[in-house]
Amino acid sequence: MDVNVSADETAFRDEVRAFFDDKLSPDMREASSLTSGVFAEMSIGRRWHQALYEQGWIAPSWPEEHGGTAWSPMQKYIYDSEAGASGAPRLFSMGLRMVGPVIMKFGTDEQKNFYLPRICSGEDTWCQGYSEPGSGSDLASLQTRAIVDGDHYVVNGTKIWTTGAQYADRMFCLVRTSTEGKKQEGISFILIDMDTPGITIEPIITMAGDHEVNQVFFDDVRVPIANRVGAENDGWTVAKYLLEFERGGAAYATTLAAALEKLHAIAEAERASGGRLIDQPAFAAKLAALEVKQRAAQATEHRIMSDIAQRGRPGPASSMMKLVGSETNQAISELAVEATQYYAAAYQPEARVPGNNIEPIGPASSVPVMPKYLNYRAATIYAGSSEVQRNIISKLVLGL
Ligand SMILES: Cc1cc2nc3c(=O)[nH]c(=O)nc-3n(C[C@H](O)[C@H](O)[C@H](O)COP(=O)(O)OP(=O)(O)OC[C@H]3O[C@@H](n4cnc5c(N)ncnc54)[C@H](O)[C@@H]3O)c2cc1C
Repeated sequence: MDVNVSADETAFRDEVRAFFDDKLSPDMREASSLTSGVFAEMSIGRRWHQALYEQGWIAPSWPEEHGGTAWSPMQKYIYDSEAGASGAPRLFSMGLRMVGPVIMKFGTDEQKNFYLPRICSGEDTWCQGYSEPGSGSDLASLQTRAIVDGDHYVVNGTKIWTTGAQYADRMFCLVRTSTEGKKQEGISFILIDMDTPGITIEPIITMAGDHEVNQVFFDDVRVPIANRVGAENDGWTVAKYLLEFERGGAAYATTLAAALEKLHAIAEAERASGGRLIDQPAFAAKLAALEVKQRAAQATEHRIMSDIAQRGRPGPASSMMKLVGSETNQAISELAVEATQYYAAAYQPEARVPGNNIEPIGPASSVPVMPKYLNYRAATIYAGSSEVQRNIISKLVLGL
């Protein structure tokens, strides 16, 4: 892939930048910088979703017929990069980035016509029902049962770590429809309306103090068989396809660059040994090492973009980006804690509420540092742990 930017692409970048400058209101930017979670606060995220939808830019990687843009891979990359750099709120993307592409590939025409426009417009928010207690990395061992009763499945079991279940209208869910044969062969992929009787959602509060994840219980939940995507017992094929999109296709490198820029600003303002922290050789060396990793991530991302351009999907290389992106993000958040020192330890959740008028303890930039550090601990677990990504890379990328 040619990563030199042409005059047309520069004009496109300027157009995207101007849009972000115009539409990203100060409260959206503030909410974005204060959030420690993966996704923006829901009401802010919904407003940003609406702004992008009205502009026709909500689903750049979707085909035009389903509401996508007709952008080239380079334009999509420029757009993602600008979004990362602008501090735009991160949208709840389980519809747009996960189940949407799956419905396009495996769904019936009825499913496409019903679900895809609702994902684009923001009418439906989705959550992902894959993991269970005891079935995370070993996903194929999942136990949630779906038994046929007339033209419905009756679902019993539980899902855990379900991000955003408390907001979601629908869940895409892996269920066991057979106990015969290999465990991968008895799984189906179904779409569940979260209003269906028999569903209970219990919050799980993370150590960063956020309510992002939940445990969801199913007690005789009736789901129309027509809500199955793909063939019965062939959900593993569908599930694996989705995981590629979960792990790849995002512009990690610019997000890392934006985090490094913030860290740079903190280190310029902080004092150490009578001078600026940024001028301390030991600290500067750590910062430089992270900047090198960010550059390496950028180069890898360009290679993955090239794969997407040629094959239309991220492929196993998406695991490389997930691994490098999440581990570097963690390292940046760790160095930010080191840079802000004891101010990072101040517990001030009220100062993280957008629009608050609380006087921060220490510099305002230190307020989200510790919650971000704590929240990023999960980044090397969700969407497949680092160990699992390394297994995939060694097998499918390196051919070991
Ligand atoms: C914040 C957060 C949000 C999440 N959101 C969602 C969501 O929305 N929907 C959803 O379905 N799930 C979600 N998850 C679940 C996530 O996908 C799982 O936590 C993850 O797959 C790991 O599974 P586990 O927790 O069962 O850990 P385990 O699989 O039990 O892993 C425990 C440890 O063993 C290691 N390990 C396991 N297998 C291997 C192996 N084969 N080789 C080497 N090491 C191995 C792991 O790397 C890890 O260190 C979320 C998790 C978190 C933390």
